[in-house]
Amino acid sequence: MSVPSVAPLDASKLRIELTPSPKDLPDPSTLVFGQTFTDHMLTAKWNIQTGWADPVIQPYGPLALDPSSTVLHYAPTLFEGMKAYVDKQGRTRLFRPDLNMARLNRGAARLAFPTLDGETLTELIKELLRVDQRWIPTAEGCSLYIRPTMIGTRASLGVGPSTEVLLFVILSPVAKYYASGAKPVSLLGSTKDVRAWPKGTGSYKFGLNYGACVQPQLEAAQQGYQQVLWLYGDDDEVTEVGMMNFWGAKRGANGVVELFTPPLGDIILPGVTRDSVLALARAHADPSHPFRLAGLPDELVVSERKVTMPELRDAARDGSLLEVFGTGTAAVVTSVERIGYRDEDVVVPVEGGSTGGFGRIAEAFYDVLQAIQYGDAEHEGWSVLV
Ligand SMILES: *Cc1c(COP(=O)(O)O)cnc(C)c1O
Repeated sequence: MSVPSVAPLDASKLRIELTPSPKDLPDPSTLVFGQTFTDHMLTAKWNIQTGWADPVIQPYGPLALDPSSTVLHYAPTLFEGMKAYVDKQGRTRLFRPDLNMARLNRGAARLAFPTLDGETLTELIKELLRVDQRWIPTAEGCSLYIRPTMIGTRASLGVGPSTEVLLFVILSPVAKYYASGAKPVSLLGSTKDVRAWPKGTGSYKFGLNYGACVQPQLEAAQQGYQQVLWLYGDDDEVTEVGMMNFWGAKRGANGVVELFTPPLGDIILPGVTRDSVLALARAHADPSHPFRLAGLPDELVVSERKVTMPELRDAARDGSLLEVFGTGTAAVVTSVERIGYRDEDVVVPVEGGSTGGFGRIAEAFYDVLQAIQYGDAEHEGWSVLV
């Protein structure tokens, strides 16, 4: 039996249709996250018989979908979240795009979508960034959010493999997340709703994982908390902070500070920021590595391990809890000041930062990540020029 030869995604086949009516650039101070989009988008269609059609950069606008498209019924859809940054020399940079591409492909395989060459998609995203270059805000701390998405477009109510898929990438200018200064957040530990579960799909950026998180988020807001701390299981295992990875720090009985985050697995999203914080923390903690991060204790233990809410509550009570924070592309780092847990408020210290918006450890990671992302510091080729 001969294997059908299907076309791979090919950046050399890119067609560019420029918009006849470029929009006015928004005032960066009025930007609300994810509500303003640039002039163009990238699209590429895939079909099981022919493979990838030629990718197109075209004017940003509505998609035409058959109402029976599987994405509208059974949610075969995944997304990525990354950013483009302008450095002091005016050059555009991406941060570790290879990790976003690997995560996208891992999700595509799980949804029985075609996988693609990550370098080719990165090339196409770079081309889109060149076309919409004027949209990348240059004010300090601003960036252009990049949203690659894949959806199943087979027109059929039968549940089955996506024989047709649409890949698209849209761009949204975003203001500095902490425009009015960093502020620690309050969390409500969810003992009623679960975000992800063993052998489930919580470790993928699938649309289906997010829609159902809104109602618990509203409930937390009604009770006076800003985000949900997603707990799992009978021992109230800590998993994630809203849409961020979870980090905690405490002083051990021997006086040494431990920085900890839950291990990857089915219930944790493998964040690019999480991976970066881990790598930086481990380099700092390794005496044979030259990297040192000001703000972290000289001696540091870095753990990926199970964390439970009772452990955090007890550490807060006995004074050994130093900090809790979340990490993700949108805000980079967010400190936590309070966690509502089983009718109690666990108060978390936010100390040692330069402004009060961050704890000392959170601030150290925030500062170094921003410096790398904006090209002010170099670290292992993480920042990639467009
Ligand atoms: C995207 C996401 C993160 C953070 O991932 P980054 O790659 O660091 O942006 C964390 N948790 C969830 C649930 C996410 O969707």
